Amino acid sequence: MALLQIAEPGLSAAPHQHRLAVGIDLGTTNSLVATVRSGHAACLPDKQGRMTLPSVVRYGSDGEIDVGQDALKAQKIDPANTISSVKRLIGRTLADIKANEETRYLPYRFGEDERIIQLHTRAGVKTPIDVSADILHALKNRAEASLGGELTGAVITVPAYFDDAQRQATKDAARLAGLNVLRLLNEPTAAAIAYGLDNRAEGTFVVYDLGGGTFDVSILSLSQGLFEVKATNGNSALGGDDFDQRLFCWLLEQNKLSQLNEQDSALLLSLARAAKEALTHDNSATIQATLSDHRHINTRITRATFQQLTQHLVAKTLAPVKQAMRDAGVAKTDITGVIMVGGATRMPHVQQAVATFFGQTPLNNLNPDEVVALGAAIQANVLAGNKNDDEWLLLDVTPLSLGLETYGGLVEKVIPRNTTIPTARAQDFTTFKDGQSAMMIHVVQGERELVSDCRSLARFTLRGIPPMMAGAARIRVTFQVDADGLLSVSACEQTTGVQAHIEVKPSYGLDDAAITQMLKDSFSNAETDVQARARAEAVVEAQSIMGAVQSALALDADLLDASEQQSIQAALIQTQSQVNEGDVQSLRDAIQALSHATDHFAAMRMNRNIQRALQGKKVNEI
Ligand code: ADP
Ligand code: MG
Repeated sequence: MALLQIAEPGLSAAPHQHRLAVGIDLGTTNSLVATVRSGHAACLPDKQGRMTLPSVVRYGSDGEIDVGQDALKAQKIDPANTISSVKRLIGRTLADIKANEETRYLPYRFGEDERIIQLHTRAGVKTPIDVSADILHALKNRAEASLGGELTGAVITVPAYFDDAQRQATKDAARLAGLNVLRLLNEPTAAAIAYGLDNRAEGTFVVYDLGGGTFDVSILSLSQGLFEVKATNGNSALGGDDFDQRLFCWLLEQNKLSQLNEQDSALLLSLARAAKEALTHDNSATIQATLSDHRHINTRITRATFQQLTQHLVAKTLAPVKQAMRDAGVAKTDITGVIMVGGATRMPHVQQAVATFFGQTPLNNLNPDEVVALGAAIQANVLAGNKNDDEWLLLDVTPLSLGLETYGGLVEKVIPRNTTIPTARAQDFTTFKDGQSAMMIHVVQGERELVSDCRSLARFTLRGIPPMMAGAARIRVTFQVDADGLLSVSACEQTTGVQAHIEVKPSYGLDDAAITQMLKDSFSNAETDVQARARAEAVVEAQSIMGAVQSALALDADLLDASEQQSIQAALIQTQSQVNEGDVQSLRDAIQALSHATDHFAAMRMNRNIQRALQGKKVNEI
C-alpha cells in the first residue's frame, strides 16, 4: 500500500517522454486548468486568452451545450436551463439542498428522486454529475487543444470538507468527461503546494479562500512533507458576489432607481462587478450604462467609498478564521504563513484586514484565483511520472479503509478511509473458543463488510496465548500507517504481554481504477452487505451457544431426564440446520428456541456448581 508513492506503477516516464497531465480547479464560480511545462506551472487560457472559465452550463434549444462566459450571459434570460454553482449540489440529495439556505430557492426544476438530484432541462434530466462533467469536458478540450495531445490524467481539487459522497461524485463527473483522475486533492493542500511548501516547509499555515460565493478557511499543518488539515471553517453564503451586490445597491441609491427589470439589473450587476475588479488596481472607477428606458447612468466611485461600503463583509470573514484556529488549537503566534486564495482576495482591503489580523503580510505573489489549479498541476505532473522516480510528494489521507477479519468472515474497520497519515489506531479483540492459544490476524483493505469482497493485504498469527475461557483474553491489535504510507500491524495479548508484529509492504499500490471500482461496489452493494453481515453475526452467535451447550452436556448431562435431553438435542439439530442454510430470521428463531430449551438445564448446573464450591467449607469461610 505505497499510498504516498507518487509514481504509479507503470507510469514512470521514459527519458524525454513527457506525459500530458493537468490540474483542475473545479470551482463554484470559476474553474481553471493548469499544467507544468519546462518545470513551470501555468494556467491554460482559452482562445480569447481568458484563464478562468465560469462554472456555468447552459443547455440550449438546438441541443448545444454552452459552458463558461456565454452560458453566464444567458443565465438571466434562461435560468431553468442554465446551471450555475453546481458544486453546491454535487454529491447531495434533494433533502440536503432543501435544508440549505443557499440552495433552497434555486430556479431549477428538480426531479422527485430522493437519492440523486435531478435537474429537468430542455436537454432532458441532468444530474449535478452531468453538469460538472460538462465543465470538466470543456477544460479537457481546452487543455488538449493547447497542449496538442491526449491527456494522461488529471488531478482535480475538492474542498477539504467534502465528504465521501461529494468526492465520489466529483470523480464520477471526471470519468464521464473522459478524464483519468490521478487523484483528488484538497484545495488548501493544492494552494500550499503551489507556494512550494511541499517538501521543505514546516509549520502551521492558514489558507484563506474567498471565492465568488463561498468563504473557506483551513488550518494546515506541514511537517516533513506531510500535510494535515487541522480544521476547516467558513461561510457558504459569503464571497465576491456579495461585494457586487453591495455596490449594485449603492448604485441604485445614487441614481434613485427602483423596480428595475431583469435585463437592467443584470446589466448593472455585471457593471458593478467590473467596477469592483477595477478598483483593485485603480483609485476610482466609472459605471456607465443606458437602461431600457433610455436613462443614462454615469456614476463615479472611489476605492475609499467602495471599501467603506463593503468593510463589514471583510470583517465577517474573521469569525470563521477565529473558530478554525480555536478548533485546531493554534494561536496567531503559531502561524508560519497565511496563503491567500480566491479571486476576491485580490481586493486590497481584504489583504489589509488579513495582514492586520495575523500581524504578518500574507503570501500573495501568485494569482489568487490560479493557485489551486497550479498546485494541482504540480501534483499531476509528479503523479504522471514526469519527475524523477526518487522524488516524492506526500499525500494526506488513506484512500481506502484498513481493517481486520473477524469471526464469520466479517471486516472490522480499524482505520477508516480518508484518515490523515501518519496515524495509529488500536482495537481490542478476544478469543472465540475456550483454551484458544493462537489467533490468526488477517489484514484487509476496502470498504465492503465481508472479507471476501475486500483486498487481502497480509496474514499473521499471534501465538502463545495462555489457555483462557473464550472471551477472557484481551488482544489489542494496533494499526500504524507511517509517513511513507507503509502499514504495520501488531497484536499484543494484554494480560500476558505476548506479542506479534508484521510489516505490510505490498510491492503494488491499488491504482485509482481499482479504488474507484471497490468504492462503487461498496455503495451499490451496501444493502446485500448489511444482510450478509446480519447473517454472519447470527451464525457466530449460534456456533458459540451450540459449543457452550455441548460442553455443558459433556459435563452435566446426568442432571437431565430423557425427555429434556431429547428436546435439547432436537434444538441443537434445528440450530445447526439453520446455520447451514436458513435465513437470518429462522436462524435467530432457532437460537432463541435453543436457549429456551436449555433454561432449566442451566439453572440446575448453576445449583450444582454452587454446591461443589461450598463443599467442605465452613460457614464463616464463605
Ligand atoms: P470560486 O473559487 O468560487 O470558483 P474564484 O476564486 O474564481 O471563485 O473567485 C471569484 C470572485 O473573485 C468573483 O467574485 C470575482 O469578481 C472576484 N475577482 C476576480 N478578480 C478580481 C479582482 N481583480 N478584484 C476583486 N475581485 C476579483
Ligand atoms: Mg476556488
